[in-house]
Amino acid sequence: MPVSEKNDFVPVVKPAFLPWQKPFIDQLKDLQKQNRLPHAILLSLPGGEDNLGFIWYLSMSLLCQQGENNQPCGECSSCQLMLANTYPDFKLMGLEYDEKNKK
Ligand SMILES: [Zn+2]
Repeated sequence: MPVSEKNDFVPVVKPAFLPWQKPFIDQLKDLQKQNRLPHAILLSLPGGEDNLGFIWYLSMSLLCQQGENNQPCGECSSCQLMLANTYPDFKLMGLEYDEKNKK
C-alpha cells in the first residue's frame, strides 16, 4: 500500500541540518544528557523549506533511542515513528503563512 493511502498527512521530509546548526543540536543533547531538557522548544527560524528538515532532524536526535554522536540512528522505533510522522508526543506547530499577503 502506498504511503499516501495509509496516511495522507505524512510529510515528505528529509531530516537534515546545516553545519552551523550542529552546535545548537549538541547544546540540546547536552541538556538532555543532564536531564535538563525543557518540555517544549520554541524555534524561530528564517523562512525556507529547509526548516522542516532541520526540525525533523533535531527532533529525531532528541528522541532517538540508540543514536551516537548526537545523531539519530534512523532505525529505532522512535526514529521510525518520526519518519512516518506518527510519533505520539511530537507536535509541530507554526504560524500559518498567507501567500496572498506574504505574511
Ligand atoms: Zn533512532
